Amino acid sequence: MALDRIQIREVGEVREIRKDIAKVTGLGRCMNGEMLDFTPHARGMVVGFDEQAADVVLLGRVEDVRVGSRALSRLEPFSMPAGDGYLGRIVNALALPLDGGPEIGPDAFVPLFREAPGVLDRVPISRVFETGILSIDSTIPIGRGQRELIIGDRMTGKTTIAVDAILNQRGKDVVCIYCCIGRAYSSLRRVVETLKFRGALDYTIVVAATGSVCSGEQYLAPYTAAALGEHFMDAGRDVFIVFDDLTKHAWAYRQMSLLLERPPGRECYPGDIFYLHSQLMERAGQMTPELGGGSMTFFPIVDTLQGDVTGFIPSNLISMTDGQIYMDTTLFNSGFRPAIDLSLSVSRIGNKVQTPVMRRLSAMLRLEYVQYHEMLKKTRFTAAVSDDQRERLRPGEVLTQLFTQDGNSPYPIATQLCFLYALRERLLDKFGTAHIQRFKHEFINFLRQHSPDLIGVLEHQGELTPDHKAHLAECLDRFYEQTVGDL
Ligand code: ATP
Ligand code: MG
Repeated sequence: MALDRIQIREVGEVREIRKDIAKVTGLGRCMNGEMLDFTPHARGMVVGFDEQAADVVLLGRVEDVRVGSRALSRLEPFSMPAGDGYLGRIVNALALPLDGGPEIGPDAFVPLFREAPGVLDRVPISRVFETGILSIDSTIPIGRGQRELIIGDRMTGKTTIAVDAILNQRGKDVVCIYCCIGRAYSSLRRVVETLKFRGALDYTIVVAATGSVCSGEQYLAPYTAAALGEHFMDAGRDVFIVFDDLTKHAWAYRQMSLLLERPPGRECYPGDIFYLHSQLMERAGQMTPELGGGSMTFFPIVDTLQGDVTGFIPSNLISMTDGQIYMDTTLFNSGFRPAIDLSLSVSRIGNKVQTPVMRRLSAMLRLEYVQYHEMLKKTRFTAAVSDDQRERLRPGEVLTQLFTQDGNSPYPIATQLCFLYALRERLLDKFGTAHIQRFKHEFINFLRQHSPDLIGVLEHQGELTPDHKAHLAECLDRFYEQTVGDL
């Protein structure tokens, strides 16, 4: 931003610099969260002050700021440019483009730390948010406006779940924001390439603060993402934000706080770390129709160490979200994809957001799945499995195979319902493992060719009549014969 466009109200001077933190004197009227400009490319935010000096976290081109540099103040709280021009772009925590594209013309300026909407501004969550992942949409349904934590050890498929949910919003008029905090540049690049390749970047904004940028920017990035999202929510649109991941965000804030000489508490985090995340999480929600009826759905991601969910940051986040998807290393290592532990995962919104047909088909599914895994553990200790036991394990086996889903291939709702109908009507019991794989990949196209009206009913999430069910069974029989013939 050109300095001549800034209305300067106060001028301070940098007295001391400690990594990304500066002490600035001469700002007699400064306030917390105030924006400062040092050079056209270096900015700062006031994070505390005493009688002598203000503590300022440096942002942007930090190396441009030296002891003796001038700090220009507008006596304004930090605000971010926002607008439709940001869709499809990759920006940093200051909303400046990182993708080499043209400068983005903002539609408006929005406050970075806006107070979360009050209770009277919100209505209960009632609309479903489809992730396209069968095990989540059927057993841990998520509503628009919900905060669902994705929690798990390193390399368990957390990012893949969140990215799949973005891919599944194609054509659904949901603005998606992927906020990368403290992650390696390579993993950001992988996500951006997936989004680009799958045509999901058009409706997505990427806010990136990789591990190589200063801690101040890593600290700000999730608030920038929330502020950009609020702009769309205020216009009545649905927004979906992924924070990948908040463990790194807490690390960045811890580093800043230690440099600011704030007293360290548990695990060396400062005392206000709970506030830091809860203030962010509160900004999600479903607004009233008078306020436009927009919503913000959050998927924060948090890392655990060796499956320990009682760590400080993970347990804080569990307490301030509306449920969690728990990713399990043992499941991941034994080949289950996605490696969601359904016995520890929960959505506190419950099945009230599901359509009646999905609710009916998925009732008890989670219990059946968990019971199957319990039974499977027991059969490991017996030398031979009896025919009766095998028969009882069969539905669980089919269910597990249906729940196994490749990364970056979300299922449309018609596919999900078709799978669940086939499962519920026990049409898949005769299918062997190889046949079920073919069924998952090819049957929906087969059905589309042979019975477009059935697909129509599934797409509109209507109940299947007995005639439809008989027709589905007939199509499955034909498909089965064809598959057996091919294999
Ligand atoms: P990190 O801790 O590094 O952030 P993560 O938990 O986000 O890791 P991902 O990067 O999503 O995990 O996935 C780890 C690996 O597992 C990737 O190589 C990804 O391709 C693979 N993977 C994840 N989910 C699936 C899936 N459903 N099907 C196939 N492969 C998957
Ligand atoms: Mg990840």
